[in-house]
Amino acid sequence: MDFTAKRVLVTAGANGIGLAIATKFKDLGASVFVTDIDPDAVEKAQVNGLSAAVSDVSDEAQVRELMDTVAAELGGLDVLVNNAGIAGPTGPLETLDAGAWKATFDVNIHGQFYCIKHALPLLRQGTDASIVNLSSAAGRLGMAGRSAYSASKWAVVGLTKTLAIELGPDRIRVNAICPGAVNGPRIDAVIAAKAQMLDLPEEQVSELYHNQSSLGRLIEAEDIANMAAFAASDLARNVNGQALAVDGNTEKLY
Ligand code: NAD
Repeated sequence: MDFTAKRVLVTAGANGIGLAIATKFKDLGASVFVTDIDPDAVEKAQVNGLSAAVSDVSDEAQVRELMDTVAAELGGLDVLVNNAGIAGPTGPLETLDAGAWKATFDVNIHGQFYCIKHALPLLRQGTDASIVNLSSAAGRLGMAGRSAYSASKWAVVGLTKTLAIELGPDRIRVNAICPGAVNGPRIDAVIAAKAQMLDLPEEQVSELYHNQSSLGRLIEAEDIANMAAFAASDLARNVNGQALAVDGNTEKLY
């Protein structure tokens, strides 16, 4: 895979899975721009050689401004990776706070809508552009105690499949990635919240999370970065409108 001369934007690309994706594209020759809501993470990314800016994907005005910055910095855009997504509240639905529910949708699905809407004029300027949206195994399966997250990630798949039809004639491919539980601080926090909800020791819930994949292990951020690069590459030129699972075969979520 060669991304020389390709321009890539990764949202929430200064940490976690987004940083692994940004680094992968950079290593494959792309010009990469990352954005994140966390100024410290953005500064760290800049120190490590990535072009980066602070931006909140859930704020349409900030996203519009971001695309102007990307146009100025990269001179256009070939690949948009909509990676930003928050875990949302944990608990039975009737206990969930409406504000926390809405905030989950504001980032996980409205953020992707704003980014795609304002990136499209740039993506249409090139040839064979690509959009990669981060969904989740929870965008394919139900996840007890995480209704806001799961519903928002199913919405990502609906958006992906619809846009693949709308944008296919413009040769813009749109795919989603559905990761299983990915090793890192985010999954540690998710496990802690689930342990509290179920009143179980964290070690026991951690074991459940490791074993929800048929391979009996967590997914690595690098695995998601590899799929993002493949999905955006010419090797996947006829892969469109797919929800690509990278979950070691996960059939039930805890
Ligand atoms: P993370 O919680 O580690 O967060 C990554 C970054 O997102 C942080 O730097 C944070 O500052 C940034 N961010 C949060 N809100 C933002 C906003 N409104 N605008 C811009 N940036 C924002 O996340 P992660 O684990 O790296 O997950 C990345 C994506 O993968 C998410 O969409 C997530 O839902 C999805 N995913 C993660 C897992 C997992 O196990 N970690 C599993 C399946 C899917």
